[in-house]
Amino acid sequence: MKKQVTIFLFCDALGFEIVSKYHFMEKEFPFRYSVRTQLGYSSTAVPTILTGKPPTVHRHFSFFFRNPDGHSPFRFFNILKYFMHPGIIFNHHRVRHQLSKIIKWWYGFTGYFSLYQVPYDRLPFFDYCEKGDIFAAGGLKPVENLRDMLDKSGISFHISNWRNGDIENLQEAKKIIAGGKCDFLFIYTAGIDGMLHFNVMDPVKVEQELKKYASSVNELFDAGAAADCELRFFLISDHGMTPCNGSVDLKSIIESKPLRFGVDYIACYDSTMLRLYILKEGCRSELLNSFNGVPGHWLSAEEKKRFNVDFEGNLYGDEIFLLDPGIQLVPSDMSGKAIPGMHGYSPDDIDSNAAILSNVQPDFIPDEIAGFFTLMKHETERHSGKGSPK
Ligand SMILES: [Zn+2]
Repeated sequence: MKKQVTIFLFCDALGFEIVSKYHFMEKEFPFRYSVRTQLGYSSTAVPTILTGKPPTVHRHFSFFFRNPDGHSPFRFFNILKYFMHPGIIFNHHRVRHQLSKIIKWWYGFTGYFSLYQVPYDRLPFFDYCEKGDIFAAGGLKPVENLRDMLDKSGISFHISNWRNGDIENLQEAKKIIAGGKCDFLFIYTAGIDGMLHFNVMDPVKVEQELKKYASSVNELFDAGAAADCELRFFLISDHGMTPCNGSVDLKSIIESKPLRFGVDYIACYDSTMLRLYILKEGCRSELLNSFNGVPGHWLSAEEKKRFNVDFEGNLYGDEIFLLDPGIQLVPSDMSGKAIPGMHGYSPDDIDSNAAILSNVQPDFIPDEIAGFFTLMKHETERHSGKGSPK
């Protein structure tokens, strides 16, 4: 019997609408399913895939959240802000990038870290959720992650380095598959996400880039065939990409009110949602009535529960205003301008759907992205002899 090798190829943002529209690798992957995404960004979707648990359990949602106890890793900006006048060189993206690197090194953060565009004087109000490497052993403790699960299983596995580019990760995986010794690979690629953010409305470019990606994926199939292995190949994504159809400046609306940031409220301006911490109860109705006529809505308690963001202690905001699909929050703490595509909308939005494509019938079909972990566990058990026979 041929050696079986399980491959999970993670392709950030390759949603079901895109794979269907472009007939992406239909011959190679005849089993194709739409999978409901998790509200939020990759910062919450990836930990959800790596643990099989909702954000309310692994506690990763958006990168920035309120630090109520004064121990913010950014507290030194309380002094630095006097030297870093906004609008001049200090806000240049290269300066912010270098500063992010210094902070990362200073604290020994091993996860993905960036200051993005959060104003320097507001940083001391915040903490950051991805300080550690979520792919490393114990990276999402106390919750078990993929690495912990694979370590325990005793099978031979490979998880690619998320810090590397797609070409490097795909080439490395190809060599490992060709070696014929590895049971399970999780290959991380994020290039399609970056491409779709800027080109989702340009079908010629998207088709061209998907063809390039497909040819790299085919090289993995070829490596498996050359090593005489039987590949169980699953291509998975975390969300889709929704074309831009407008933007709103929620920040100016809030800041036109006679309310003080840090005294009356704290706001996190994500790309598609505003998360609000209400510090003075008397300001609540003025804040909540700010957006009449804006295409979006405040999440109800029922929606927060259904979207798995009803965090204990309202960790990620007392109230969340979610924009309608396609509308971008500009400027946000992430970016100063609108871009052709974005994700982070309601999981009910069709363009937000994630996907699983495979060359074999999965023995478990996830209906939401947390279920990818269950499928990875089933596949691991297949190799460790605890699950379906080899
Ligand atoms: Zn993205």
